[in-house]
Amino acid sequence: LSGKFDKEKGVNVQVVLRCRPLNDDEKKANTQVVISCNEHRREVSAAQNIANKLIDRTFTFDKVFGPTSKQKDLFDQAVAPIVNEVLEGYNCTIFAYGQTGTGKTYTMEGGGRKAKLGEFPSDAGVIPRSVKQIFEILEAQCAEYSMKVTFLELYNEEITDLLAPDESKFSDDKNKKPIALMEDGKSGVLVRGLEEEVVYTAGEIYKILDKGSAKRRTAETLLNKQSSRSHSIFSITIHIKEITPEGEEMIKSGKLNLVDLAGSENISRSGARDGRAREAGEINKSLLTLGRVINALVEHSGHIPYRDSKLTRLLRDSLGGKTKTCIIATVSPSILCLEETLSTLDYAHRAK
Ligand code: ADP
Ligand code: MG
Repeated sequence: LSGKFDKEKGVNVQVVLRCRPLNDDEKKANTQVVISCNEHRREVSAAQNIANKLIDRTFTFDKVFGPTSKQKDLFDQAVAPIVNEVLEGYNCTIFAYGQTGTGKTYTMEGGGRKAKLGEFPSDAGVIPRSVKQIFEILEAQCAEYSMKVTFLELYNEEITDLLAPDESKFSDDKNKKPIALMEDGKSGVLVRGLEEEVVYTAGEIYKILDKGSAKRRTAETLLNKQSSRSHSIFSITIHIKEITPEGEEMIKSGKLNLVDLAGSENISRSGARDGRAREAGEINKSLLTLGRVINALVEHSGHIPYRDSKLTRLLRDSLGGKTKTCIIATVSPSILCLEETLSTLDYAHRAK
């Protein structure tokens, strides 16, 4: 890990692991727990049954959050420092990676508890907490700034705008407005036709987030759990006006991408017949390419295969160079998920 933080080359990829608690059904069924977390040593062990012997495999990460970890702790320890970098002018990305049902959306968005008036819910996830911190810092600095957000979903290598005003996408495919990715010289890629909302307060962003994730949930029910096969990307771009010591005006800009990835089981399962095969293949492409891009960055390899998937093209200006990346890998403690858990641990560990 230590070698991965390289100031000169600017490559900084941090990998943290989070294990969710057993849910009520799993507890009732006396589900066997096979994952143990040692937060202090930053280690996760998986007990594997090999030839009737339980063998522990241990993985080390930059940080480990066990089943009793709180949303606030994960944010304060793993995410808050990255949000600060965004305000210093870095482009940063936080990924949630893991099998469906392990807590990616819980970690990124939250547990769905509604905020009481003037009170932040304790189960609020990384996105609302990041927004809150960004506004708190900007207000404390009395900074002059502008901010805009986008929220999109990537499914089957196709982009859907979660902030688009019409709901037509899910009722009538003919009305779907295609969104195109275009190469844009040095800044990377331009998304044509994407709604960009200019925001002035944290409250406005929370509303946008609610609207977008509601749209994502609608899609999930209508299109048979689409969301487990789709990636969502919530991006905040901030421009801050600064006066240099020489009295010149300067604009500092930073971007924060918060990405809830498709379920990692989509990497290993073929998806079988019909359109499903294509789906699995395409999701494969974005998730696999992301892995390859991160590996290439971490290993300082010359060629970074950004162009091989829409996900990595979209995030190109925020992966590599003067950027910071944090992967939050999520796992279940249950024996029933062990195989997927091991593949998540392997994937996440390779990214380190
Ligand atoms: P994913 O997005 O990876 O498919 P979810 O975030 O939807 O998974 O989580 C599945 C279920 O487990 C949800 O009901 C969620 O509230 C619960 N859950 C996930 N992580 C935690 C956690 N760390 N603590 C408590 N409940 C959790
Ligand atoms: Mg989810």
